[in-house]
Amino acid sequence: MALIDGNLIAQQVLQEVKTRVATLAPQVPHVAFVRVGDDPASVSYVNKKQKTAAEVGMKASLKLFPDTVSKEELFAHLDSLNADDTVHGILVQAPLPKHLPETEVFNRISPDKDVDGFTTASIGRLVQEVPGAFAACTPAGIIEMLKRSGVVTAGKHAVVVGRSLIVGKPAALLLLAKGLDATVTVCNSRTKDLAAITRQADILVAAIGKPHFIKGDMVSEGAVVIDVGINRIPDATKKTGYRLVGDVDFDAVAPKASLITPVPGGVGPMTVAMLMKNTLDACERTRKK
Ligand code: NDP
Repeated sequence: MALIDGNLIAQQVLQEVKTRVATLAPQVPHVAFVRVGDDPASVSYVNKKQKTAAEVGMKASLKLFPDTVSKEELFAHLDSLNADDTVHGILVQAPLPKHLPETEVFNRISPDKDVDGFTTASIGRLVQEVPGAFAACTPAGIIEMLKRSGVVTAGKHAVVVGRSLIVGKPAALLLLAKGLDATVTVCNSRTKDLAAITRQADILVAAIGKPHFIKGDMVSEGAVVIDVGINRIPDATKKTGYRLVGDVDFDAVAPKASLITPVPGGVGPMTVAMLMKNTLDACERTRKK
């Protein structure tokens, strides 16, 4: 078994982004964040993304709205960002308060600035395999990790457990696309005899949201295992009272896997790195226009 080191690969991606950003001067790629309310996880995610943007020489702006903001007010702000030529990427941090329909909000973002890849247009472009389509950052990060770890996907059976719009579905589409050429099976909570399917996986992507869900007997010898899950479980030995674990029972699965991502330090760091890459790509495209 060998570990796929997400921290290391993310650093490589960010270093490459930083080098490319420097060549664009005096133009500076600009990602505009929009946060509604004070959900602690959202605050910490946006902070991390802003900090990383600064580290690679990008501009990151942040507009905060109270969780009482109206749809109209939020849309007016997104329209102004869409119209602003100095803004290359726009990211509305989810989750949003219940009165704001997430899909409608995401779709207000210009597809050319949709660096999070959540608009209907971006997902359509992904299905159509339009070159340069923005893919959601977590699945894009998974593909980057596989490529940089030398994993051959063509002709391999990739099993994706989970069908969410932010992870499972786009991960499956990317693996299926020409160039990666995997044979893809996508599972959900109604899948029968899940273990019989996951055992067929040459590449297993677990995006379920349940701690240690994938057990040792659900994985075949030599499989490549990508654990997307980030779950908090109680841990009295930690100051915080919890620790983070993935959707894969790492101790049981790792001895069978040829390659496996740890949690933390696997897919997580890649998500932010790919956001920076998407923003840079968006900026470079505006120069070519
Ligand atoms: P969702 O809850 O949106 O989706 C979970 C998926 O898992 C659903 O499609 C669900 O099926 C499926 N599922 C649930 N139970 C089972 C089961 N028993 N058997 C088979 N499938 C099942 O989660 P997300 O996709 O948003 O996230 C998944 C995990 O990845 C979470 O732990 C999340 O924290 C993490 N995550 C990590 C990121 C990172 O940067 N590393 C980024 C985003 C997410 P159904 O559709 O039938 O309900």
